[in-house]
Amino acid sequence: MDCEYIDWHVHMAYKTDIKPFVKAARKLGIAMCVNACGPMYAQPGNDEVEEAAKKYPDTIVPIGYVALGRGDTPETIVGLHERGFKGLKMIAPTKDYDDEEFYPIYAQAEKLGLPILFHTGVVARSDEIIKNRKAAGKPVPPHDDPRTFNIKSKRMEPMCVEGVLQNFPDLNCVMAHFGSTGRRDVSQGIVRWNPNGYGDLTGFSRAFEPDDSEQGWHIAEKYVKMFTDVLNPLLVNRYPEKLLYATDLSTDDPELMNAKIESHRAVYTACGIPKDKQRLMFRDTAAKLLGLS
Ligand SMILES: [Zn+2]
Repeated sequence: MDCEYIDWHVHMAYKTDIKPFVKAARKLGIAMCVNACGPMYAQPGNDEVEEAAKKYPDTIVPIGYVALGRGDTPETIVGLHERGFKGLKMIAPTKDYDDEEFYPIYAQAEKLGLPILFHTGVVARSDEIIKNRKAAGKPVPPHDDPRTFNIKSKRMEPMCVEGVLQNFPDLNCVMAHFGSTGRRDVSQGIVRWNPNGYGDLTGFSRAFEPDDSEQGWHIAEKYVKMFTDVLNPLLVNRYPEKLLYATDLSTDDPELMNAKIESHRAVYTACGIPKDKQRLMFRDTAAKLLGLS
């Protein structure tokens, strides 16, 4: 794929024109791995992601949402693969991620070579997301009472990904939000001991402050220090090839994309990660996992 960067973790916003987002991404040479987790998180679904990827194949890499314990099966994975999805996103399962009920789904993903992005740690409140979108005048998809989803963050603890990695050694899994609150030492151990375990670094995209300058922002050293103080004890400069550039951006937010890239660069550099290794984090590891050249 002809790009400088691959953002591993991006969400499609419900009923928004993604053209300005694609335009901003193209300008910076970023390919966006886009997923949409459905009405549970006030997002659209796989159909919309597929459509966007067909329309903008140079920029949108489609990641298929799989509803664990909520009706999806190994056949769902086959279908997503046939439709051109390059990876899978999992969040809010009805049991722990490593529950054996889900093994047939993982086995199918492993067979087809589809990497999985697992949300890890405390998850945002579905009812709050819906409430906030409504308050902002943004549309929300038709949805059930969020309580019917029976969401529990403990089923998404990083340790719940470990059993998947052990039992599916050819299945590459990425733990979202590596290094942020509640996803530190355990995640580090998992990533370092499992050749098929990776982490995404969404939590380190905001080492900047908006200002009145022409570019509209500057890197703020106090935030760079705050983030490196978190990442250095995890010894991230020893395994940069296992960590992925990611922002958790929403496709209705094309602003300050370059500030987010430069935030990551400033933090990686301050952690002592050399440029050639940063290239793996910004692009090459994601390209390898997704089967993109
Ligand atoms: Zn996310």
